Amino acid sequence: MPEPQELERRTTELLRELIRFNTVNPPGNEAPVQEYLRELLERAGFECELLSAVEGRPNQVARLRGRSDGPRLAYLGHVDTVLADPDDWSVDPWSGDLKDGCVWGRGALDMKSQVAAEVAAATALAEEGWRPESGELMLVLTADEEAGATHGAKWLCEQVPDKVRCDLVVNEGGGDHIELGGRRVYGVCVAEKGVFRFTLTTEGRAGHASIPRIGDNALTKMAPILQAMAERQPSLELTPEPEAFLEALGFAVDGDLGPALERVASKDPRVAVLLEPMLGVTLTPTRIRASEKINVIPARAELQVDCRVPPELDEDHARRRIAEVIGDDGYRLEFSETVIGNRSPVESRLMREIEDFIGREDPDATIAPMVLPGFTDSRWFREAFPDCVAYGFCPQRSMDLFEAAPLIHAADERIPVEDLGLAARFFAELAPRLLG
Ligand SMILES: [Zn+2]
Repeated sequence: MPEPQELERRTTELLRELIRFNTVNPPGNEAPVQEYLRELLERAGFECELLSAVEGRPNQVARLRGRSDGPRLAYLGHVDTVLADPDDWSVDPWSGDLKDGCVWGRGALDMKSQVAAEVAAATALAEEGWRPESGELMLVLTADEEAGATHGAKWLCEQVPDKVRCDLVVNEGGGDHIELGGRRVYGVCVAEKGVFRFTLTTEGRAGHASIPRIGDNALTKMAPILQAMAERQPSLELTPEPEAFLEALGFAVDGDLGPALERVASKDPRVAVLLEPMLGVTLTPTRIRASEKINVIPARAELQVDCRVPPELDEDHARRRIAEVIGDDGYRLEFSETVIGNRSPVESRLMREIEDFIGREDPDATIAPMVLPGFTDSRWFREAFPDCVAYGFCPQRSMDLFEAAPLIHAADERIPVEDLGLAARFFAELAPRLLG
């Protein structure tokens, strides 16, 4: 097993290097960083392949084959990032500076840190001569996650599935912890919600704005709709992941989620804010437009709403929940995106290994399965390979979720070096345990 100090040092240095490759998407420009990683992986003994949907934006699949057939374990990560405005930062976002015990820069949390931990752990194992007894260790390093994965994981899973076929995936989306009632709880992301964005249109009749009642104002018809969305969310739904999450936190659910949510809120309202979206359909109005001219009563107004739906539930379900909040007449509704969320089982060999790891590293802590309100590349793998178990997990102990979450996609993104060491230990221990 690689020596922990050395593993932490390697991961830290690698993350600093990765941050120095500007992979802001768009345009992504992932080729140089992929070439750099390919060299590291090949030198350690991996077989690497670069697979591009478009010129200059390769995905990478690296394999360490075992002595016989067996499960394929994939460490998944994306190498692109969102943009960064240097004016908002206290360091250069592409410096990879090391200060105050942290590595700073765009991607330090999302998710070059996990890519660095995965690659550092995998190359350290391979250099020591470790090979899977059976099965295969894969690294799948994707482009284009931050802009919808059209050229990344989605393309890989849909267009070249044989290149990325696997049984177990460890990806982003979990591993942060919260503290509740004096106990650390690490989240394991086992499911992602679906994305059902829609445009809601109200109609009226144009007229001169100096005589309000000469027309029929489509914009003011939005007022009760917005008011309803501000005041309430659709009813909560009991699904397996939040039930298991609440149980892990010590809150029993007796068929009704409302009281459980209230008990969580009374312990720590911040936890309730994060938990609530796991419990049902959410509606967040984000954009509105009406008249093109200030002196014309609008004949039409359009409101855009970002709606997220629990895993496996479809458009009909979303429509019913929307009607619950805003009724079903007086507007037209059209979905612009309908991506159904999916899930992996809560119980699995991979879950037990994660539990054991936390048991060894942080014995008083516990783990809890969770649904991510957002979206990750795991979804494409679950869809392409229905038996594949895909979880988000990259353990973080010294920075908690309430510190880390506001830094993601924001200024001064950074990660404690200690957490890089912890994550690398996780990836270095996991592969030999699952693959022998
Ligand atoms: Zn990410």
